[in-house]
Amino acid sequence: MTGSTPAPFTADDYRARMERAARSAADAGLAGLLVAPGPDMVWLTGYTPTAVTERLTVLVLAPGQDPVLVVPTLEAPDAERSPAASVLTLRDWTDAKDPYAVTAGLLDERGRLGISDNTWAMHLLGLQRALPGTSYAALTDALPMLRGVKDAAELELLAAAGAAADQTFEEIRKVPFAGRRESDVGHDLADLLRRFGHSQVDFTIVGSGPNGANPHHEVGDRVIRPGDMVVLDFGGLKDGYGSDTTRTVHVGEPTEEERRVHDVVRAAQEAGFRAVRPGVACQEVDRAARAVITDAGYGEYFIHRTGHGIGVTTHEPPYMIEGEEQPMVPGMCFSVEPGVYLPGRFGVRIEDIVTVTGDGGRRLNNTTREMVVVD
Ligand code: ZN
Ligand code: ZN
Ligand code: ZN
Repeated sequence: MTGSTPAPFTADDYRARMERAARSAADAGLAGLLVAPGPDMVWLTGYTPTAVTERLTVLVLAPGQDPVLVVPTLEAPDAERSPAASVLTLRDWTDAKDPYAVTAGLLDERGRLGISDNTWAMHLLGLQRALPGTSYAALTDALPMLRGVKDAAELELLAAAGAAADQTFEEIRKVPFAGRRESDVGHDLADLLRRFGHSQVDFTIVGSGPNGANPHHEVGDRVIRPGDMVVLDFGGLKDGYGSDTTRTVHVGEPTEEERRVHDVVRAAQEAGFRAVRPGVACQEVDRAARAVITDAGYGEYFIHRTGHGIGVTTHEPPYMIEGEEQPMVPGMCFSVEPGVYLPGRFGVRIEDIVTVTGDGGRRLNNTTREMVVVD
């Protein structure tokens, strides 16, 4: 996680993103945006400091002003090599200086500022001291759709990440499950994701038997047995963009009930996918998937939202959940991942990343959604 994302974006791409962010901030009534190292900074500039430390690094965007990246002097050479360096001004500060005062001096207007969600509290407190009379909004609350609509190059990268996750599933279904620990299969998943081009593995969930009924279970020492349902949910970043897919497999022949639950989840996933359409509210995806599960009598066992956005992170807006009235827009990418979790018994989840097209949705995961029997 050093240097810049290898994504094929030019300085002009980053300039356009920074300009759009500043315009959106003005439209939202903000005097400016303060962006700390993390996904927003990567998306806006391609820059990731070698280490995120107590030394302040912040991108300052304000309507009508040129973008400024405030960096510690000792990191300035790195920042100068970042992809957007030619379209922003670097303002470095030495350890003897107060970086919050430096930042405050860059803002012509005070008022309400958007600040990236992951900014360290000590930095926000320092900025508040240096900028009396300002108030702050979390960037994701103020501009939830800033990164929500992907351009053609981003869609290509997300599709490639999805294809790599699909290759991972095609390989993992061939490995032996029975007699091995969940953590062994989890290691296999991580190795495969890397083999197929991921630079970062964010999660490898292997939920066997009763562990599959806990959607937050990652991997444990449980030895997988014949007769187990196994939820496999894995993803990470490839060339700076995320993958995230889930398939639920069965060790040996499933029971009739296991098949029925899997069929319900598969039908729910299909219904959620079919609800994807530009102009339709995100909550309709959740409603469509949930209705299938509720009608089948498993409503109380579907205990999470139907989906989340994906881009330079594996979880971001928009969220597919009741109450989310944000209309879908071509280029949005998000998961459709209903599940049924029977406590103490087993769980089933099926997840694809879907992108909104001009007239519907396109899946970026395309492995079979039928139940796969593994050894
Ligand atoms: Zn079973
Ligand atoms: Zn997932
Ligand atoms: Zn997901």
